[in-house]
Amino acid sequence: MSNPLEKPRLGEPYLLTPGPLSTAYTVKQAMLRDWGSWDDDFRAMTRQIRTDLLAMIGDDQQLFDCVPVQGSGTFAVEAMLGTLLPADSKTLVLANGAYGQRTAKILQTIDLRHTIIDKGDYLPPRGYEVTAALNADPDITHVVAIHCETSSGILNPLEEISEATYAAGRSLLVDSMSAFGAIDINHTNVRFDAIVSSANKCIEGVPGFGFVIVRKDLLQGAKGRCHSLSLDLHDQWATLEKTGQWRYTPATHTIAAFVEALRLHRLEGGVGARGQRYRSNRDTLVAGMRALGFETLLNDRWLSPIIVTFFNPADPAFVFARFYDLMKEQGFIIYPGKLTEVDSFRIGCIGQIDSSVMQSVVEAAAEALKRMGVSSAQPPEQAFAEREKLQQS
Ligand SMILES: *Cc1c(COP(=O)(O)O)cnc(C)c1O
Repeated sequence: MSNPLEKPRLGEPYLLTPGPLSTAYTVKQAMLRDWGSWDDDFRAMTRQIRTDLLAMIGDDQQLFDCVPVQGSGTFAVEAMLGTLLPADSKTLVLANGAYGQRTAKILQTIDLRHTIIDKGDYLPPRGYEVTAALNADPDITHVVAIHCETSSGILNPLEEISEATYAAGRSLLVDSMSAFGAIDINHTNVRFDAIVSSANKCIEGVPGFGFVIVRKDLLQGAKGRCHSLSLDLHDQWATLEKTGQWRYTPATHTIAAFVEALRLHRLEGGVGARGQRYRSNRDTLVAGMRALGFETLLNDRWLSPIIVTFFNPADPAFVFARFYDLMKEQGFIIYPGKLTEVDSFRIGCIGQIDSSVMQSVVEAAAEALKRMGVSSAQPPEQAFAEREKLQQS
Protein backbone atom coordinates (compact mmCIF):
# COMPACT_ATOMS: atom_id res chain seq x y z
CA MET A 1 0.00 0.00 0.00
CA SER A 2 1.29 3.47 -0.75
CA ASN A 3 2.11 5.84 2.01
CA PRO A 4 -0.68 8.29 2.70
CA LEU A 5 1.46 11.10 4.06
CA GLU A 6 -1.09 13.69 5.06
CA LYS A 7 -1.04 17.17 3.59
CA PRO A 8 -1.02 20.07 4.16
CA ARG A 9 1.91 20.79 6.41
CA LEU A 10 1.71 23.80 8.63
CA GLY A 11 5.01 25.48 7.81
CA GLU A 12 6.61 23.94 10.89
CA PRO A 13 9.99 22.16 10.70
CA TYR A 14 10.15 18.38 10.34
CA LEU A 15 11.01 16.69 13.62
CA LEU A 16 13.73 14.15 12.85
CA THR A 17 13.52 13.05 16.45
CA PRO A 18 12.36 9.75 17.94
CA GLY A 19 9.14 11.11 19.47
CA PRO A 20 7.59 13.56 19.76
CA LEU A 21 7.75 13.39 15.99
CA SER A 22 6.07 14.91 12.95
CA THR A 23 2.41 13.89 12.99
CA ALA A 24 -0.21 13.90 10.24
CA TYR A 25 -2.44 16.92 9.77
CA THR A 26 -5.55 14.86 10.55
CA VAL A 27 -3.95 13.64 13.79
CA LYS A 28 -3.58 17.26 14.90
CA GLN A 29 -7.10 18.00 13.63
CA ALA A 30 -8.55 15.20 15.77
CA MET A 31 -7.64 17.28 18.83
CA LEU A 32 -10.00 20.12 17.88
CA ARG A 33 -12.82 18.93 20.08
CA ASP A 34 -13.34 18.25 23.74
CA TRP A 35 -14.35 14.92 25.23
CA GLY A 36 -15.93 14.00 28.55
CA SER A 37 -13.88 11.16 29.98
CA TRP A 38 -16.97 9.43 31.43
CA ASP A 39 -18.96 9.66 28.20
CA ASP A 40 -19.80 6.53 26.18
CA ASP A 41 -18.21 7.91 23.01
CA PHE A 42 -14.92 8.42 24.81
CA ARG A 43 -15.10 5.01 26.47
CA ALA A 44 -15.60 3.50 23.02
CA MET A 45 -12.37 5.19 21.86
CA THR A 46 -10.46 3.73 24.80
CA ARG A 47 -11.87 0.29 24.06
CA GLN A 48 -10.90 0.61 20.42
CA ILE A 49 -7.29 1.60 21.03
CA ARG A 50 -6.84 -1.29 23.46
CA THR A 51 -8.24 -3.74 20.90
CA ASP A 52 -6.25 -2.32 17.97
CA LEU A 53 -2.97 -2.40 19.90
CA LEU A 54 -3.55 -5.96 21.06
CA ALA A 55 -4.21 -7.03 17.48
CA MET A 56 -0.66 -5.94 16.58
CA ILE A 57 0.90 -8.80 18.56
CA GLY A 58 -1.36 -11.43 16.97
CA ASP A 59 -2.71 -12.69 20.29
CA ASP A 60 -4.88 -15.51 18.89
CA GLN A 61 -5.24 -17.28 22.21
CA GLN A 62 -6.30 -14.09 24.01
CA LEU A 63 -3.62 -14.50 26.64
CA PHE A 64 -2.83 -10.78 26.75
CA ASP A 65 -4.52 -7.51 27.53
CA CYS A 66 -3.56 -3.92 26.79
CA VAL A 67 -3.47 -1.44 29.66
CA PRO A 68 -2.91 2.25 28.86
CA VAL A 69 -1.25 4.52 31.44
CA GLN A 70 -1.20 8.33 31.58
CA GLY A 71 2.17 10.08 31.22
CA SER A 72 5.22 9.67 29.01
CA GLY A 73 6.70 6.30 28.11
CA THR A 74 8.81 6.12 31.26
CA PHE A 75 5.66 6.21 33.41
CA ALA A 76 4.44 3.09 31.59
CA VAL A 77 7.83 1.36 32.01
CA GLU A 78 7.72 2.10 35.74
CA ALA A 79 4.12 0.88 35.94
CA MET A 80 5.09 -2.38 34.22
CA LEU A 81 8.10 -3.00 36.49
CA GLY A 82 6.38 -1.93 39.70
CA THR A 83 3.29 -4.03 39.01
CA LEU A 84 4.78 -7.20 37.53
CA LEU A 85 7.94 -7.71 39.61
CA PRO A 86 7.33 -9.39 42.98
CA ALA A 87 9.19 -8.18 46.07
CA ASP A 88 11.41 -11.30 46.03
CA SER A 89 12.23 -11.03 42.31
CA LYS A 90 15.64 -10.33 40.86
CA THR A 91 15.88 -8.78 37.41
CA LEU A 92 18.62 -8.98 34.81
CA VAL A 93 18.71 -5.68 32.88
CA LEU A 94 20.30 -5.81 29.42
CA ALA A 95 21.71 -2.34 28.87
CA ASN A 96 23.47 -0.75 25.93
CA GLY A 97 22.47 2.86 26.31
CA ALA A 98 20.40 5.41 28.20
CA TYR A 99 17.11 3.50 28.23
CA GLY A 100 18.62 0.32 29.67
CA GLN A 101 20.29 2.51 32.31
CA ARG A 102 16.92 4.13 33.02
CA THR A 103 15.30 0.74 33.66
CA ALA A 104 18.06 -0.06 36.16
CA LYS A 105 17.47 3.33 37.79
CA ILE A 106 13.74 2.65 38.14
CA LEU A 107 14.47 -0.70 39.81
CA GLN A 108 16.92 0.99 42.13
CA THR A 109 14.40 3.73 42.96
CA ILE A 110 11.62 1.30 43.81
CA ASP A 111 14.07 -0.93 45.61
CA LEU A 112 13.84 -4.11 43.55
CA ARG A 113 16.84 -6.44 43.29
CA HIS A 114 18.59 -6.38 39.95
CA THR A 115 21.82 -6.96 38.13
CA ILE A 116 22.98 -5.52 34.84
CA ILE A 117 24.81 -6.57 31.71
CA ASP A 118 26.17 -3.27 30.42
CA LYS A 119 27.43 -3.39 26.83
CA GLY A 120 28.38 0.28 26.67
CA ASP A 121 27.19 2.51 23.86
CA TYR A 122 27.00 0.42 20.74
CA LEU A 123 27.24 -3.31 21.29
CA PRO A 124 24.20 -5.61 21.44
CA PRO A 125 23.54 -7.93 24.40
CA ARG A 126 23.67 -11.44 22.91
CA GLY A 127 21.66 -14.55 23.68
CA TYR A 128 24.71 -16.50 24.90
CA GLU A 129 25.50 -13.74 27.39
CA VAL A 130 21.96 -13.94 28.76
CA THR A 131 22.26 -17.73 29.04
CA ALA A 132 25.55 -17.42 30.92
CA ALA A 133 24.20 -14.79 33.32
CA LEU A 134 21.05 -16.79 34.06
CA ASN A 135 23.00 -20.01 34.61
CA ALA A 136 25.37 -18.23 36.96
CA ASP A 137 22.67 -16.70 39.14
CA PRO A 138 19.63 -18.86 39.97
CA ASP A 139 18.09 -15.96 41.92
CA ILE A 140 17.32 -14.10 38.70
CA THR A 141 13.60 -14.39 37.89
CA HIS A 142 13.11 -11.78 35.14
CA VAL A 143 14.96 -10.25 32.20
CA VAL A 144 14.33 -6.74 30.84
CA ALA A 145 15.42 -6.03 27.26
CA ILE A 146 15.35 -2.80 25.28
CA HIS A 147 14.10 -3.60 21.78
CA CYS A 148 15.49 -0.60 19.89
CA GLU A 149 17.93 1.30 22.14
CA THR A 150 17.03 4.78 20.94
CA SER A 151 20.17 6.43 22.32
CA SER A 152 22.31 4.79 19.61
CA GLY A 153 19.58 3.44 17.31
CA ILE A 154 20.74 -0.16 17.71
CA LEU A 155 18.15 -2.85 17.06
CA ASN A 156 18.84 -5.42 19.75
CA PRO A 157 18.48 -9.14 18.91
CA LEU A 158 15.20 -9.75 20.73
CA GLU A 159 14.63 -13.26 19.31
CA GLU A 160 17.82 -14.73 20.72
CA ILE A 161 17.36 -12.87 24.01
CA SER A 162 13.84 -14.28 24.30
CA GLU A 163 14.99 -17.81 23.47
CA ALA A 164 17.76 -17.65 26.06
CA THR A 165 15.37 -16.27 28.69
CA TYR A 166 12.67 -18.90 28.30
CA ALA A 167 15.13 -21.77 27.78
CA ALA A 168 16.33 -20.90 31.29
CA GLY A 169 12.75 -20.73 32.59
CA ARG A 170 12.72 -16.97 33.26
CA SER A 171 10.29 -14.21 32.24
CA LEU A 172 10.97 -11.49 29.64
CA LEU A 173 9.70 -7.90 29.84
CA VAL A 174 10.41 -5.71 26.81
CA ASP A 175 10.81 -1.95 26.42
CA SER A 176 9.72 -1.71 22.79
CA MET A 177 8.98 1.98 23.09
CA SER A 178 10.58 3.08 19.84
CA ALA A 179 9.98 -0.11 17.81
CA PHE A 180 6.38 -1.16 18.47
CA GLY A 181 4.16 -0.51 15.45
CA ALA A 182 7.04 -0.56 12.95
CA ILE A 183 8.91 -3.75 13.78
CA ASP A 184 6.86 -6.91 13.94
CA ILE A 185 6.62 -8.33 17.45
CA ASN A 186 4.26 -11.22 17.07
CA HIS A 187 4.27 -13.20 20.29
CA THR A 188 3.92 -16.44 18.33
CA ASN A 189 7.44 -15.73 16.97
CA VAL A 190 9.00 -13.99 19.94
CA ARG A 191 7.93 -15.01 23.40
CA PHE A 192 7.53 -12.31 26.09
CA ASP A 193 5.32 -11.68 29.11
CA ALA A 194 4.91 -7.92 28.74
CA ILE A 195 5.83 -5.25 26.25
CA VAL A 196 5.61 -1.50 26.67
CA SER A 197 5.36 1.42 24.22
CA SER A 198 3.82 4.88 24.00
CA ALA A 199 1.57 7.11 21.90
CA ASN A 200 4.22 9.32 20.32
CA LYS A 201 6.60 6.88 18.65
CA CYS A 202 5.96 4.55 15.69
CA ILE A 203 2.16 4.79 15.85
CA GLU A 204 2.76 8.52 15.19
CA GLY A 205 0.43 9.97 17.81
CA VAL A 206 1.09 12.93 20.12
CA PRO A 207 2.56 12.53 23.63
CA GLY A 208 0.38 11.88 26.69
CA PHE A 209 0.14 8.18 27.47
CA GLY A 210 1.91 4.83 27.23
CA PHE A 211 0.58 1.30 27.18
CA VAL A 212 1.62 -2.13 28.40
CA ILE A 213 0.58 -5.31 26.60
CA VAL A 214 0.78 -7.96 29.25
CA ARG A 215 -0.33 -11.52 29.98
CA LYS A 216 -3.66 -11.47 31.78
CA ASP A 217 -2.62 -14.17 34.27
CA LEU A 218 0.27 -11.95 35.40
CA LEU A 219 -2.05 -8.97 35.82
CA GLN A 220 -4.49 -11.07 37.80
CA GLY A 221 -1.72 -12.14 40.15
CA ALA A 222 -0.46 -8.59 40.70
CA LYS A 223 -3.23 -7.15 42.83
CA GLY A 224 -1.94 -4.80 45.52
CA ARG A 225 1.71 -5.29 44.54
CA CYS A 226 2.64 -1.96 42.96
CA HIS A 227 4.74 0.50 44.93
CA SER A 228 2.68 3.37 43.49
CA LEU A 229 -1.02 4.14 43.41
CA SER A 230 -1.13 6.09 40.15
CA LEU A 231 1.17 3.62 38.35
CA ASP A 232 -0.64 0.48 39.55
CA LEU A 233 -1.27 -1.40 36.32
CA HIS A 234 -3.49 -3.98 37.97
CA ASP A 235 -5.77 -1.35 39.44
CA GLN A 236 -5.87 0.59 36.15
CA TRP A 237 -6.76 -2.63 34.31
CA ALA A 238 -9.41 -3.70 36.82
CA THR A 239 -11.08 -0.28 36.62
CA LEU A 240 -10.96 -0.25 32.81
CA GLU A 241 -12.49 -3.72 32.71
CA LYS A 242 -15.21 -2.83 35.19
CA THR A 243 -16.19 0.68 34.10
CA GLY A 244 -14.53 1.29 30.73
CA GLN A 245 -12.90 4.35 32.29
CA TRP A 246 -9.35 5.30 33.09
CA ARG A 247 -8.56 5.88 36.75
CA TYR A 248 -7.90 9.63 37.07
CA THR A 249 -8.05 12.14 34.23
CA PRO A 250 -6.99 10.66 30.88
CA ALA A 251 -5.25 12.72 28.19
CA THR A 252 -8.49 12.97 26.20
CA HIS A 253 -7.15 14.93 23.23
CA THR A 254 -4.11 12.68 22.94
CA ILE A 255 -6.38 9.64 22.88
CA ALA A 256 -8.61 11.15 20.18
CA ALA A 257 -5.48 11.89 18.14
CA PHE A 258 -4.25 8.33 18.72
CA VAL A 259 -7.48 6.86 17.30
CA GLU A 260 -6.79 8.80 14.11
CA ALA A 261 -3.09 7.77 14.17
CA LEU A 262 -4.17 4.12 14.39
CA ARG A 263 -6.53 4.63 11.44
CA LEU A 264 -3.64 5.99 9.36
CA HIS A 265 -1.41 3.12 10.52
CA ARG A 266 -4.01 0.62 9.24
CA LEU A 267 -4.51 2.58 6.02
CA GLU A 268 -0.78 2.52 5.31
CA GLY A 269 -0.80 -1.27 5.61
CA GLY A 270 -0.03 -1.88 9.28
CA VAL A 271 3.24 -2.80 10.96
CA GLY A 272 4.87 -4.23 7.81
CA ALA A 273 4.23 -1.21 5.61
CA ARG A 274 5.14 1.27 8.33
CA GLY A 275 8.42 -0.55 8.93
CA GLN A 276 9.10 -0.60 5.21
CA ARG A 277 8.64 3.17 4.90
CA TYR A 278 11.01 3.73 7.84
CA ARG A 279 13.59 1.36 6.34
CA SER A 280 13.50 3.21 3.06
CA ASN A 281 13.84 6.53 4.97
CA ARG A 282 16.90 5.11 6.70
CA ASP A 283 18.42 3.74 3.50
CA THR A 284 18.04 7.07 1.67
CA LEU A 285 19.49 8.93 4.65
CA VAL A 286 22.45 6.63 5.25
CA ALA A 287 23.42 6.37 1.56
CA GLY A 288 23.19 10.17 1.13
CA MET A 289 25.11 10.97 4.31
CA ARG A 290 27.84 8.42 3.49
CA ALA A 291 28.22 10.06 0.08
CA LEU A 292 29.00 13.29 1.99
CA GLY A 293 31.64 11.46 4.03
CA PHE A 294 29.58 10.93 7.22
CA GLU A 295 29.75 7.53 8.86
CA THR A 296 27.30 5.73 11.12
CA LEU A 297 28.15 4.66 14.66
CA LEU A 298 26.79 1.18 13.93
CA ASN A 299 27.63 -1.13 11.09
CA ASP A 300 24.76 -2.10 8.81
CA ARG A 301 23.83 -5.27 10.65
CA TRP A 302 22.72 -3.37 13.78
CA LEU A 303 21.24 -0.23 12.20
CA SER A 304 17.57 0.12 13.13
CA PRO A 305 15.03 1.77 10.83
CA ILE A 306 14.10 4.06 13.76
CA ILE A 307 16.99 6.46 14.31
CA VAL A 308 20.58 6.64 13.07
CA THR A 309 23.62 7.92 14.98
CA PHE A 310 26.38 9.60 12.96
CA PHE A 311 29.88 10.45 14.17
CA ASN A 312 30.66 14.15 14.23
CA PRO A 313 33.13 14.89 11.43
CA ALA A 314 36.77 15.19 12.48
CA ASP A 315 37.16 18.50 10.59
CA PRO A 316 37.57 21.22 13.26
CA ALA A 317 35.29 23.51 11.21
CA PHE A 318 32.38 21.24 12.20
CA VAL A 319 30.54 22.58 15.27
CA PHE A 320 27.40 20.66 16.19
CA ALA A 321 25.47 23.68 17.55
CA ARG A 322 26.05 25.53 14.31
CA PHE A 323 25.13 22.44 12.23
CA TYR A 324 21.91 22.16 14.26
CA ASP A 325 20.99 25.79 13.57
CA LEU A 326 21.76 25.50 9.87
CA MET A 327 19.59 22.37 9.61
CA LYS A 328 16.78 24.08 11.53
CA GLU A 329 16.97 27.08 9.21
CA GLN A 330 16.34 24.66 6.35
CA GLY A 331 13.33 23.11 8.09
CA PHE A 332 14.79 20.12 9.92
CA ILE A 333 15.10 19.57 13.66
CA ILE A 334 17.81 16.98 14.30
CA TYR A 335 18.85 15.41 17.59
CA PRO A 336 22.04 15.65 19.63
CA GLY A 337 23.95 12.47 20.43
CA LYS A 338 23.43 10.59 23.68
CA LEU A 339 26.64 8.60 23.83
CA THR A 340 29.15 8.67 26.63
CA GLU A 341 32.36 8.31 24.63
CA VAL A 342 32.30 9.68 21.10
CA ASP A 343 30.85 12.92 19.72
CA SER A 344 27.83 12.18 17.60
CA PHE A 345 24.40 13.35 16.50
CA ARG A 346 21.23 11.50 15.57
CA ILE A 347 18.65 11.70 12.82
CA GLY A 348 15.29 10.00 13.29
CA CYS A 349 13.59 8.10 10.48
CA ILE A 350 10.13 7.87 12.05
CA GLY A 351 7.06 10.09 11.83
CA GLN A 352 5.31 11.61 8.83
CA ILE A 353 8.33 11.64 6.56
CA ASP A 354 9.16 9.67 3.45
CA SER A 355 12.33 9.12 1.45
CA SER A 356 11.86 12.30 -0.60
CA VAL A 357 11.96 14.23 2.69
CA MET A 358 15.09 12.27 3.62
CA GLN A 359 16.67 13.24 0.32
CA SER A 360 16.05 16.89 1.25
CA VAL A 361 17.63 16.25 4.65
CA VAL A 362 20.81 15.06 2.92
CA GLU A 363 20.82 18.12 0.65
CA ALA A 364 20.35 20.36 3.70
CA ALA A 365 23.29 18.63 5.42
CA ALA A 366 25.46 19.22 2.35
CA GLU A 367 24.50 22.89 2.37
CA ALA A 368 25.20 23.18 6.11
CA LEU A 369 28.69 21.66 5.66
CA LYS A 370 29.38 24.09 2.85
CA ARG A 371 28.35 27.09 4.92
CA MET A 372 30.50 25.93 7.86
CA GLY A 373 33.46 25.40 5.54
CA VAL A 374 33.73 21.68 6.34
CA SER A 375 35.48 20.00 3.44
CA SER A 376 34.99 16.40 4.50
CA ALA A 377 32.44 14.91 6.88
CA GLN A 378 34.68 11.96 7.64
CA PRO A 379 34.77 10.91 11.32
CA PRO A 380 37.98 10.66 13.35
CA GLU A 381 39.78 7.60 12.03
CA GLN A 382 40.11 6.13 15.47
CA ALA A 383 36.36 6.13 16.22
CA PHE A 384 35.66 4.37 12.97
CA ALA A 385 38.38 1.75 13.44
CA GLU A 386 37.07 1.00 16.93
CA ARG A 387 33.60 0.40 15.52
CA GLU A 388 34.88 -2.06 12.96
CA LYS A 389 36.84 -3.98 15.54
CA LEU A 390 34.07 -4.25 18.13
CA GLN A 391 31.12 -4.96 15.90
CA GLN A 392 32.76 -7.71 13.87
CA SER A 393 31.52 -10.38 16.22
C1 LIG B 1 11.13 7.14 24.20
C2 LIG B 1 11.63 5.96 24.93
C3 LIG B 1 11.25 5.71 26.28
C4 LIG B 1 10.35 6.63 27.06
O1 LIG B 1 10.79 7.92 27.13
P1 LIG B 1 9.82 9.11 27.60
O2 LIG B 1 10.67 10.30 27.42
O3 LIG B 1 9.43 8.85 28.99
O4 LIG B 1 8.62 9.04 26.68
C5 LIG B 1 11.69 4.54 26.88
N1 LIG B 1 12.45 3.66 26.23
C6 LIG B 1 12.84 3.85 24.95
C7 LIG B 1 13.69 2.81 24.28
C8 LIG B 1 12.45 5.01 24.26
O5 LIG B 1 12.82 5.20 22.99
